[in-house]
Amino acid sequence: MAFVYLDNHATTRVDPAVLEAMLPWFSERYGNASSAHPMGHLAEGAVVQARAQVAALVGASPAELVFTSGGTEGLNHALRGAMEAFPAKRHLVTTAVEHSAQLAVCDLLRRSGVEVTVVGVDGEGRLDLDALEAAVRPDTALVSVMAANNETGVIFPVAEVAARAKAKGALLHVDAVQAVGKVPVDVAAWGVDLLTLSGHKFHGPKGVGALFIRRGLRLKPLMPGHQERGRRGGTENVPGLVGLGQAAELAGARLPEMARVAALRDQLEAAIRAIPESRFHGAGADRLPTASLAGFAGVEGEALLLKLAERGICVSTGSACTTGQKEPSHVLKAMGAPEAIAKGTVRFSLSRETTAAEIEEVTALLPGLVAELRALSPFAR
Ligand code: PLP
Repeated sequence: MAFVYLDNHATTRVDPAVLEAMLPWFSERYGNASSAHPMGHLAEGAVVQARAQVAALVGASPAELVFTSGGTEGLNHALRGAMEAFPAKRHLVTTAVEHSAQLAVCDLLRRSGVEVTVVGVDGEGRLDLDALEAAVRPDTALVSVMAANNETGVIFPVAEVAARAKAKGALLHVDAVQAVGKVPVDVAAWGVDLLTLSGHKFHGPKGVGALFIRRGLRLKPLMPGHQERGRRGGTENVPGLVGLGQAAELAGARLPEMARVAALRDQLEAAIRAIPESRFHGAGADRLPTASLAGFAGVEGEALLLKLAERGICVSTGSACTTGQKEPSHVLKAMGAPEAIAKGTVRFSLSRETTAAEIEEVTALLPGLVAELRALSPFAR
């Protein structure tokens, strides 16, 4: 079966050019980057190049990047590291719509005595900047916000958050996992101290990412060891890092294609708007070009997902991590979405690989599938 893949916020396809760049590093140039022989030097050179490629994408200097196993590790390193680095400051500020990986770190920190203040969003998923600023106190070590939401795609004004956090003496960490490769990301222009990114969200391999740590800021490593200049132990995943670097370079070069992706998303939404009692969560806010979170009253999101899946169309009911739960996601709850619509929510997430033909296939099917499910539903009017 040919798939129509519209779940790119869960993960993306490894770009063929990325795969090609990675392959020799598995079986031909397989040296350990720490080894003092030519095979080791080759591997070390590849890691140096990958670091430069990732740094260029986000406006960092290469020495400010620590390679990680992806977004979850980056978040853990940033949040736990920052709270440990400033033991006199036991307060952290975050938002109600962060990724579940960050919610988990906040829970861990709470259990170790850190006080966490959670700032809300409005009905369109926009951050309340004044509330955020008011939440920052003299004992706030860190403010941690996402650059763009994985469910709605809503973009937060990171530079503004940075200015307000810094004016009150707090550090800023940004979860840019969903933003990288879709909108420009610039750590210098934004003025952030820490930033997390993950390769598999921008056509790189899974299990590799990077954490930007601003020069001068010292965080205790999660995993001690001599690699990454003592900031992250463990033999470097050379093929993975080569893939991450190549994906970063491609993401920068192909960023202009996001205008076409946004047009496809708009085409999808125009067709869905014709379906009665449907709406888009966060559509009134600044959003990622790849994102469309559609809610249909009188429909179970999971049932619509399955109907689409039967036809080879891959979507999700929110974040991939909450699939299987009957409860509406914490993001929709924070936005105050009516439960009837929240339960009937499906996330379409596009990429630079999405085609007009794929969007047409989905828009041709959707009205019929929604009508079919509504006819069966005891909740539909
Ligand atoms: N942060 C956001 C906003 C995400 O969307 C994800 C993945 O879904 C993560 C963090 C976790 O990243 P990873 O899958 O690389 O651990």
